[in-house]
Amino acid sequence: MPPTSIAIIGAGIGGLALAAALRGQGMRVRIYEQAGGFGRVGAGIQMSPNAVRVLRALGLEGRVRATAFAPPNWANRAWDTGEMLFDLELGAAAQARYGAPYLLMHRADLHEALLSAVDPSEIDFGRRLVDLSQDDAAVSLLFADGSVAHADVVIGADGVHSRTRELLFGAQAPNLSGRVAYRATFPAALMGDHRVDGASTKYWGPDRHIVIYPVNAAQDEIYFVTSVPEPDWTRESWSAEGDVGQLRAAFAGFHPQVQRVLAACPKVHKWAILERDPMASWAVGRVALLGDACHPMTPYMAQGAASAMEDALVLARLLGEASGAGRGEIGQVFARFEAARQERTARLQLTSHGNQFMRGPTDASWVYGYDAAAAG
Ligand SMILES: Cc1cc2nc3c(=O)[nH]c(=O)nc-3n(C[C@H](O)[C@H](O)[C@H](O)COP(=O)(O)OP(=O)(O)OC[C@H]3O[C@@H](n4cnc5c(N)ncnc54)[C@H](O)[C@@H]3O)c2cc1C
Repeated sequence: MPPTSIAIIGAGIGGLALAAALRGQGMRVRIYEQAGGFGRVGAGIQMSPNAVRVLRALGLEGRVRATAFAPPNWANRAWDTGEMLFDLELGAAAQARYGAPYLLMHRADLHEALLSAVDPSEIDFGRRLVDLSQDDAAVSLLFADGSVAHADVVIGADGVHSRTRELLFGAQAPNLSGRVAYRATFPAALMGDHRVDGASTKYWGPDRHIVIYPVNAAQDEIYFVTSVPEPDWTRESWSAEGDVGQLRAAFAGFHPQVQRVLAACPKVHKWAILERDPMASWAVGRVALLGDACHPMTPYMAQGAASAMEDALVLARLLGEASGAGRGEIGQVFARFEAARQERTARLQLTSHGNQFMRGPTDASWVYGYDAAAAG
């Protein structure tokens, strides 16, 4: 049975990318999002060349390039002396080597770009999935507000705490890393005469690190994200605030540039870093998972959103092919999706877990050179 109606659970990065990719093929979707609307959360996001290739396929590369910062290099430095451990040349070199630029941007700018490629009337806000059932013909969805919806095919793009995943495979708590990400965006002007050094820079400490970069082409807004051991903190929430004093103390002794950035930062959010082990299967019957719902990873390689977007492009193409002339069962589509994506995402999960990527000389081409448009 070819898919005729597709429901997506979650209007995050993966869900929106899937809706945009399906729209590009003339396919309509219904997106069910638990939130009442979208807010501008203070966070940056790295879009590596493999992610920018997806944005290109969605017709969004020009839009994001107009405002994002394209760093000339990815500087990996020692935490205290600032000695360069590994300097990956980006800019024109990234374009030549990986076929697309490396871009740094505000997370909300990425979200807005993806949203611009989706028909807004396809998004239902305030719809939190609580249950689903399926038979050979269709899937029924039950939401927290008591409403019910039906679709031929359902894609759970509902993040690391995916309810869809739980309903398909049973409840399983994510792996707590015992570490937290403090993160903040703030005006560069708060640093006075000091600037961040026009790159994406990671300061590697013995048991913690911090990544710092500007989030726009004007370089007037700065972002940082950390990984710090704090086993007692298990909240993973966009609204949880951290203690700036505690954060500064955690990085005492780091390079003066780190101290300056943290001294200028007025407030900070705090996020428990979660991950899961790779899964053997991502689909049951007419329902499949995508993005963090099936392969959440630590943020250390900046590949979570990138791989959710890669999933979206691959899955949209496979669904599009199946809808063409009534070819293929949906189970075969999902099997092809898993075959195309599981090996790569498992490798990303495991490599990211180890947090050694680019600590020293690294060939990043298996990550950045991937072209989702040609995969599957
Ligand atoms: C500190 C940090 C830094 C990161 N930096 C980067 C980076 O630089 N580059 C990168 O590529 N990745 C990065 N990531 C990873 C990236 O944020 C995630 O991998 C990405 O957001 C996953 O997208 P997703 O669509 O799968 O899930 P999400 O973006 O989490 O979206 C899930 C959506 O589903 C909705 N939802 C949840 N449950 C339900 C339900 N029951 N019913 C309806 N809707 C529901 C949610 O409200 C949300 O809108 C970072 C992550 C962290 C924690």
